[in-house]
Amino acid sequence: MSSLNLKGIYKVYPSGVVAVTDFNLDIEDKEFIVFVGPSGCGKSTTLRMIAGLEAISAGELYIDGLLVNDIAPKDRDIAMVFQNYALYPHMTVYDNMAFGLKLRKMPKAEIDARVREAARILGIEMYLSRKPSALSGGQRQRVALGRAIVREPKVFLLDEPLSNLDAKLRAQMRTEITKLHDRLATTFIYVTHDQVEAMTMGTRIVVMKDGFMQQVDEPLNLYDYPINQFVAGFIGTPQMNFFDAVLTGTKNKVYVEFGEDKVLLPKEKVALICNLDEYLNTGKPVIFGIRPENIKADPAVISANKESVISVNVEFIEGLGAETLLYCKTKDIIESDDIIEVKSNLTAKVENRTFAKAGDTIELALDLSRCHLFDKETEITIVARTEDGKAELEAMQAARVEEERIKAEERAAKEAEEAAKLAAKLEKKNAMLKKFGFAKKSAPAEEVVEEVVEEPKDEE
Ligand code: ADP
Repeated sequence: MSSLNLKGIYKVYPSGVVAVTDFNLDIEDKEFIVFVGPSGCGKSTTLRMIAGLEAISAGELYIDGLLVNDIAPKDRDIAMVFQNYALYPHMTVYDNMAFGLKLRKMPKAEIDARVREAARILGIEMYLSRKPSALSGGQRQRVALGRAIVREPKVFLLDEPLSNLDAKLRAQMRTEITKLHDRLATTFIYVTHDQVEAMTMGTRIVVMKDGFMQQVDEPLNLYDYPINQFVAGFIGTPQMNFFDAVLTGTKNKVYVEFGEDKVLLPKEKVALICNLDEYLNTGKPVIFGIRPENIKADPAVISANKESVISVNVEFIEGLGAETLLYCKTKDIIESDDIIEVKSNLTAKVENRTFAKAGDTIELALDLSRCHLFDKETEITIVARTEDGKAELEAMQAARVEEERIKAEERAAKEAEEAAKLAAKLEKKNAMLKKFGFAKKSAPAEEVVEEVVEEPKDEE
């Protein structure tokens, strides 16, 4: 048994950086959990807090029901594998693996049995007497894994263990680590910035951004039902295409309009849209998302689905053999007053080979049963997974809008406070000048306040 419960975990570094905010997760025995997200999103910090290498600023961490916040790393019964292997260069592979057990004063015979078994599992029996310098990167990483295996820990923590390996070896080690997890039947927590590693290895994935959990789900659910635009863009390559759009039409025929294109949503999709009235013909902006692999160039598909066809200009083509990537621009929008041209990029992954060439204008059919719609303001999806999920999603949207409103209020209050301070300072300066007979004609304090309050702020 080795379950973990993370309850409201925060990490604030002494420098003031809030690296992790309100992290909540229940990890069951034998799960393979992956923390994934861009660099600096707080994955390693979370892992290091589980390991006990970083203090937890707030919240509770339980391993097998026991609160371990204040328990030393060595007493947590966990083993950690690092990106840089962290092997002792002067010791043989055997001694590297045996070292931790010797420190724990384990009988020699038991150590020997464990080291040989781990070496057999990892296929490094023939290297036991070598030093790390005489091993390849992949072999060294196996030794690092072996050193963790011999401990027979409750939980394995792996921090980007494959990042130092070349692409081919990484793919091979991915499979090996997955097999190892099946074989050891222990809880694994794995940190990576690589969404392919996450998708192929995790039983559940935690997507993180800026210290916040975005979504916790099984790999295919993340792909099929991303909760927000960030997750949608992070999972899947090439990245999902996004367009600023609005919903028009009637309840029975809802269209997505973006640029000069207009496509019809399938009824089953429309049935799952939350608060449809808020968007339909109101101009309230949405983000329309479609994955490159859900765009078809097959003429038969195009002629059979006229209301899901768009026209694009092909900019360049990558023929990968099994599939072809088309990098295109959607139709221009020319806004008459300012003559602004808006072109949006669109990538399509199609099966057909070179039917088009750069410079061509072609038609593509969008598989709208697989499209995504996000509220432009909250960036949360407006399409529920099921009818039953609609209420929960609507509540989430409302909570986010409220959160944004409170933030905007706080910002405005702060700005007003700063403006008042500035006005007081100016007034004081003016009084001084007046006192010494240098009074300049200046705007009254209220006007200065007005100006400062209304000064446009840069978008974040
Ligand atoms: P990730 O593993 O997702 O790349 P980290 O957990 O390493 O991210 O870092 C999260 C944030 O915390 C980053 O902004 C990083 O700069 C900051 N950070 C990490 N370690 C420290 C530290 N020891 N002191 C101060 N800030 C840190």
